[in-house]
Amino acid sequence: MATHEKRYVIIGNGVAGTTAAETLRKNDPNCSIHLLTNERYPLYNRVSLPRFLQGVLPEQKVMIRDFAWHEQRNILLITEVLVSSVNTEERVVRTEDGREFPYDALLVASGGWANPLKVPGASDTKHIYNFVTLDDTKTIVERMLESRTALAYGGSFIAYELCDGFAMRKLHTTWLMRGPYWLRNSLDTDGGEVVDNIAKKFGVEVIHGDEIDSVVPSNGVPSYVKTIKGREIQADMIGVGLGITLNTQILEGSPIEVNGGVVVNEYLETNVPGVYAAGDVANFYDSTIKRHHTMGTWDNAKSHGQVAAINMAGGHQAYVDIPTYTSPLFDVNIAVVGSAESNNPEMETVALREPGEKGNENYRRLFFQENKLVGVLMIGSPKGRKKLIDVVKSQQPFATPAEREALLTLK
Ligand SMILES: Cc1cc2nc3c(=O)[nH]c(=O)nc-3n(C[C@H](O)[C@H](O)[C@H](O)COP(=O)(O)OP(=O)(O)OC[C@H]3O[C@@H](n4cnc5c(N)ncnc54)[C@H](O)[C@@H]3O)c2cc1C
Repeated sequence: MATHEKRYVIIGNGVAGTTAAETLRKNDPNCSIHLLTNERYPLYNRVSLPRFLQGVLPEQKVMIRDFAWHEQRNILLITEVLVSSVNTEERVVRTEDGREFPYDALLVASGGWANPLKVPGASDTKHIYNFVTLDDTKTIVERMLESRTALAYGGSFIAYELCDGFAMRKLHTTWLMRGPYWLRNSLDTDGGEVVDNIAKKFGVEVIHGDEIDSVVPSNGVPSYVKTIKGREIQADMIGVGLGITLNTQILEGSPIEVNGGVVVNEYLETNVPGVYAAGDVANFYDSTIKRHHTMGTWDNAKSHGQVAAINMAGGHQAYVDIPTYTSPLFDVNIAVVGSAESNNPEMETVALREPGEKGNENYRRLFFQENKLVGVLMIGSPKGRKKLIDVVKSQQPFATPAEREALLTLK
């Protein structure tokens, strides 16, 4: 039993870490809370970065917390510090600049960093960007203002957001992806076509099934890229969305189990007592699909932060939630509920494509596991989304094709 005030250390001040700090303070007025981050800002909204990129949202609207908010709550936010290791025997977190932070309970909420473009010509060429942080966004905006052509590379949400930002800023935009269509693990050919058609409406040239072979610079800035299928694509700047690598390297050498993300049980606790993980970095047990997985969504990270903090402070609350995600997709919306990944062999799917508004189409794909609806993906009209969330929560069986197809038109 600690005889001193309880000491909490949190690695990462994203939405998971900051929510955890806030919850700890509410539950324990006397504890000490150190919130550590390598970034230079208090919590900002990553979900708002695409609108800042497009120029429709000013920087101050991206910020969620300021330094004063932390001071008022006696949360010791330490910015621009890189955590280098965790020693679970001594119960201490160490930083690259030699500082030590002893803890009674530790939360790893370190998210992930974007994978860089690794092809010949990329490392010594400027204006090739990842898109994860506020600082990334500021640098991209600066370059967009002096560019005429841009390439968005990748088949994920981040590549789409970059593509949308370039097109909104009236750059001549090419969107190149290796897969046969965008979100290859969640859409099918029809869904892919629906997205391509929307992108084309905004003047984007979409190329599938090809990859960057090399970047050809001129005076240190991109001139064009060569693809493995022999294309040459002009680009003054390149936006890269090739996924993220979860920040688990700080746990190397510790007994904390890592498998992709930091493995936690339904209480978000790792195999080492007193050490928890939350948000993007957590490989957590999802009771809806009855297996561990990672999830890169804002709401999931926020709820994780809350539940982890309750448990760090001595509570015993299981994380049970249906993660949801909505995002603009050019001039329509995309909504994802639960687990919508068809690369899981246990999933069965049905889909519907139909005419929508503004000359676009609506697309809906439903994901079933053991006859239960576990995931929903909707492009275009969101009508019926709330009812479908209730169906996912209900765990009701849908054994026949007719029963499943009826859900495709639920409004
Ligand atoms: C451009 C963009 C758009 C998005 N749009 C949406 C959306 O529309 N809807 C949605 O639901 N989700 C969206 N997401 C995903 C969502 O933002 C994330 O799921 C969420 O922010 C994850 O929060 P987190 O607290 O787990 O991690 P993060 O926000 O990644 O925070 C982790 C922090 O820890 C820091 N850190 C890591 N390692 C160390 C270390 N060794 N030492 C010190 N600090 C460290 C990181 O730099 C970072 O600041 C988007 C993400 C991006 C990048």
